Amino acid sequence: VASASEYNADKDFVFKMRKAGKNVVIFYGSQTGTAEDFATRLARDIQSPSVRPLVLDPELYDWQCLAGLGDDELAIFVLATAGEGEPTDNMEAWFNALASDRESPEDSELPEFRQPEDKADFDDSAPLQGVSYAMFGLGNNTYEQFNHHARVVDQRMLALGAARVGERGEGDDDADIEEDFAKWKEATLPAIRKYLGSSTPVGEAAPEATWKIVEVEAKKAWIRGEFYEEDEAVSTFDARHPFSAPVTSALELTPGADRHTLHVEVDLAGSGLRYESGDHIGVYPTNAEEEVDLLLGALGLRGRADTPIAVRAVDPFAAQQSLFPVDTTTYRAAFRHYLEITGPVPRAQIKTLVAPYARSAAARELLGRLADDKDAHAAVVAGGCLSLARLINAVHAAEAAAAEAERLRLPVEAAFELCPRLQARLYSISSSARASPERPSITAVVLQYDARAPAAADAAMGARRCGVATNYLLGAVRYLRGDRAEPLAQPLRAGCVLSEAPAADASAVQPVRDGKGHMLQSFTLQPAPGSACDGRRALSLPVFIRRSLFRLPADAATPIIMVGPGTGLAPMRGFVQERALLARERGVGTTLLFFGARTEANDFMYRGELEECFAEIQKAAPQSRIITAFSRDQPQKIYVQHRLLEHSDLVYQTLLCGQQKLGGPSRAHVYVCGDAKCMAKDVAKALATLIAEREGVAEDVAAKWVSEMRKLSRYQEDVWS
Ligand code: NAP
Repeated sequence: VASASEYNADKDFVFKMRKAGKNVVIFYGSQTGTAEDFATRLARDIQSPSVRPLVLDPELYDWQCLAGLGDDELAIFVLATAGEGEPTDNMEAWFNALASDRESPEDSELPEFRQPEDKADFDDSAPLQGVSYAMFGLGNNTYEQFNHHARVVDQRMLALGAARVGERGEGDDDADIEEDFAKWKEATLPAIRKYLGSSTPVGEAAPEATWKIVEVEAKKAWIRGEFYEEDEAVSTFDARHPFSAPVTSALELTPGADRHTLHVEVDLAGSGLRYESGDHIGVYPTNAEEEVDLLLGALGLRGRADTPIAVRAVDPFAAQQSLFPVDTTTYRAAFRHYLEITGPVPRAQIKTLVAPYARSAAARELLGRLADDKDAHAAVVAGGCLSLARLINAVHAAEAAAAEAERLRLPVEAAFELCPRLQARLYSISSSARASPERPSITAVVLQYDARAPAAADAAMGARRCGVATNYLLGAVRYLRGDRAEPLAQPLRAGCVLSEAPAADASAVQPVRDGKGHMLQSFTLQPAPGSACDGRRALSLPVFIRRSLFRLPADAATPIIMVGPGTGLAPMRGFVQERALLARERGVGTTLLFFGARTEANDFMYRGELEECFAEIQKAAPQSRIITAFSRDQPQKIYVQHRLLEHSDLVYQTLLCGQQKLGGPSRAHVYVCGDAKCMAKDVAKALATLIAEREGVAEDVAAKWVSEMRKLSRYQEDVWS
């Protein structure tokens, strides 16, 4: 039974709701920002005089207050499932208190809720009786535990006596999560309004603006509001307060290949941050300057881009009073550092935040079609990867014949509301915590592709689209390599005041283009002469560490089998480094690495280093080896799973760990990292086939063996969709 924690009014969300005159609380469980964005959008969609929502982060509030919700109030949960069915970090405490480790949510012990003062008939056996809630889950069908987090919390709320309004929604990021959300809202919002006694029909309450922009006085010594305004008070670094880590090494791993694979190493010294081999590192990227300029142009803001502004909540009771982590910023800095500006605009956002501002017939027709016709949206916006800037430009092109006064002019407030917050990207750390405890590294392929729809081409970039974070890292590699004299947009470090008063920094913009003229990345800022940032080679990235469950066995003698094609090699490289050190110190069990890549000549990253480590490991465990699958070195594809089957003797012997027959789960540990959609499934299947053959059992029995290994954390995946 959970013990009632000491009462803290700051954590009492019911008190906070009532004080602010709200009757709906929306809690989000968000890891990458999508659930938080959905929660914010939901609040906008449901608000009316009688439906007054407040969006809150559960991490900051006390779950024990849930029982205090009255029958004229409602909680809505928007919960993403992280990794292999886990709650998101910010829902972990609530999940553990309400629902974790319970095989059957109906039978488990009751957590101890705080008895609300206004409920004299409080029933300990059904503490959430009289409490109503709605639930939308976000997940990805590629993963085994689809929407597990939302499902468990939902079951548990019901078991505790709460009543759900409407059905539980389940969004699938592998299909079309925007459509799933839209369908759930369509079905559930009328029920929510009815429950709260609202007479406003769905979609008829004009959404009120959430943010107001105040143009403010420029300060003399001016930091333009980049992610880092160094905060002396911050001594513990995490996702909310990332550490500005100097980059100590940045290079291209496969210079001969037709794409860029990067190795970037940062220094955590002095931060107090620690990591374990297998953990993830989060990096806050910066948007490319071309994208920022394109959007400033589309919004008609070029002339005011560097005007100092503050963006504050319209609602004095909103949980978040400032849209950005700094009070004063500029339009340019806001789009550069805080908002996702490159993703295609969702259909629902076109409908609520762009279409209402159409004034010409051409704009009304185009935006109406993209908002209402799912197929048109898929072909034009998703296929063309039309970011907000490109969408506005496409509308302007369509209404070229219209009078100037009739052309679409989107208010910046709507753009601020529409663009989700720029989120940190998580990478599997590719170094060993034992070999380089203060210097974790990232191994990543740079994302660049051409948009499908021909209409997507624009003057600056053609049809080329660039992933935000990996292109930002590519910029770091090029800058540190010193092969260009380009300045670099980087978060500011202590004392790094770039200029007095907001200066037009356009002169410093130097786009980097590849041989075909495609934009790769551009950089904007140069440290002011004499500032604490000492010029060219001072470069840092805002980072934090995220714990994972991907761990080497505690006993080094345990054999391991690693499968890591492409950048799936990342955590395996850390493991291999660690096993080589352990081999020297105390010996290790058999260590197998299955590595797959396109070609041996161009894509065998870290080859020399891996071979050296394996030479060390083999001294302790002679069976150990690297087995490669180069898919494009012969006419037919050869993948890691084919190699697993080819080497079934070695794999089976490694799994047996000296036994005659497996019978049950193996003592060995299996690790898989890389693509979740196909590779990870094919590898699990290949292993089941191998076990079935060797043990003389049916494939489904062998598949259960793999599941059993998973439950025991001896078959671990670090997979990405
Ligand atoms: P890649 O180079 O595209 O692929 C590596 C090798 O795997 C190639 O030889 C490829 O062959 C092969 N392959 C293709 N389909 C396969 C399948 N069904 N089964 C087995 N092998 C297959 O890989 P990458 O670009 O590095 O990306 C790997 C994936 O891991 C991506 O999804 C990436 O996002 C993810 N990842 C992310 C992180 C992270 O930290 N964020 C870390 C690790 C991995 P062909 O191309 O010739 O068919």
